[in-house]
Amino acid sequence: MRKTRYAAVAFAAAAALTLSACGGDSGDEAGSGATGDGEKITVGIKFDQPGLGFKDGNDYTGFDVDVAKYVANELGYSEDQIEWKETPSAQRENVLENGEVDMIFATYSITDARKERVAFAGPYFVAGQDLLVNADNTDITGPEDLNGKNLCSVTGSTSAQKVKDTLASDVNLLEQGGYANCVTAMQGGQIDAVTTDDIILAGLASTDANAGKFKVVGNPFSEEKYGVGISKDSTQCEAINTAIRKMVEDGSWAEAIKTNTEGADYQFDESVNPPEPEACA
Ligand code: GLU
Repeated sequence: MRKTRYAAVAFAAAAALTLSACGGDSGDEAGSGATGDGEKITVGIKFDQPGLGFKDGNDYTGFDVDVAKYVANELGYSEDQIEWKETPSAQRENVLENGEVDMIFATYSITDARKERVAFAGPYFVAGQDLLVNADNTDITGPEDLNGKNLCSVTGSTSAQKVKDTLASDVNLLEQGGYANCVTAMQGGQIDAVTTDDIILAGLASTDANAGKFKVVGNPFSEEKYGVGISKDSTQCEAINTAIRKMVEDGSWAEAIKTNTEGADYQFDESVNPPEPEACA
């Protein structure tokens, strides 16, 4: 796994430090056509979000990975025809636009701003933005408690954007390339809280290395609809939505969310899950 290191963090009111992890290798060429036919399909996921998109040696695990495998299979691609590519939050639109990936399953919220550059199938899950704090923290119970605090989130995410748009200017926002880096910073004492989607935070808090150290506040303050990112000229939106519906109907969706959140202190919101895919543009 790629790690971003930094020696010292200086917070300035106006300048947020931005360190981003860059994707390395370029993906194999993959058809944007309808079926596999021995070709590869390149799928963008996170590599550092346990329970969602996680690279463990040569294995890829998590709910996003399971939904991606199911959808790819429905599109005619077996598991060994999938080329996994790391797509950090800030790079998702770019890699879809330049054709480096065919589909993205990476806790990728559907937003109007993103729809200017890319298209979405789905959603296949709905999460909510929340806060991760030290297990013994008692003074941060929601976004209103963040004044004067050091907060960490990820460049190019809706989570960082929401902090900039709605939280008071005396919140110090540190932007990193991935949420695991934020957790490392909190462990080092530079950070009071990490903010992103509740399911991501719960997954990070549940790893063996982090067990007992952190807690998710449990006061979600947004609705994040996870879509399948595709390029604007992709013809796959309907087929992906059909696959998602089938995954829900045959029980595979419920099984996937259950197994991938098993060790985490997380209960998905049943009033909005599983969501019905939206009409394709
Ligand atoms: N779902 C949010 C987003 O798409 C936050 C998680 C992420 O950065 O992947 O920006």
